[in-house]
Amino acid sequence: MNQVKIGKFIAECRKNKKLTQAELAEKLNITDRAISKWETGKGMPDTSIMLDLCNELEITVNELLCGEMIEMKNYNENVEKNLLEMIKQKEESDKRLLRAEILIGILGLLPFFISLIIIMIVAMEEWMETVITLTSIIPFLIVTPFMLKIEQIAGYYECEECGERYVPTYKSVFWSRHIGRTRHMKCLKCNQKSWNKKRTSK
Ligand SMILES: [Zn+2]
Repeated sequence: MNQVKIGKFIAECRKNKKLTQAELAEKLNITDRAISKWETGKGMPDTSIMLDLCNELEITVNELLCGEMIEMKNYNENVEKNLLEMIKQKEESDKRLLRAEILIGILGLLPFFISLIIIMIVAMEEWMETVITLTSIIPFLIVTPFMLKIEQIAGYYECEECGERYVPTYKSVFWSRHIGRTRHMKCLKCNQKSWNKKRTSK
């Protein structure tokens, strides 16, 4: 998908409807900065707002994603292409998120490892060692909820029992036993508890 092309298309359709950015923003209940971001190709409308936007501009979602009006005979082919493209983009962004999670985890644990080294090298009293060790764990405790949030929303968990791939609740991710990213959770579809593997595709 070409964001710049889509942006120009949004601007063109908006002008055809004789709307200013501020007027369109008001109709959609968003800021005009968001509209200007789309139109300059610096961002894409959220999926939650796409339908409303298309209604206002009197275009189809498919046309929006192509960044041009589509003739009816090419329509289906384009729908499929855009759907596949959107799925691919979601998969890639999920993979990026999961890589970011690893990085966040490593950074969060870094103070702990550094403190271990300091304790090994520098002679100090035992209470001092305890204080340093406990303090060094704090960054990891702070980043843990963010890591869990990423694991919850990026990709899907696959139920071992029925094969369903689903997005679990934050609570179930938080409280589940896990080995790496494989978590012991209750499937949303069949309600069975099993070891669920992380998958990035649906
Ligand atoms: Zn299941």
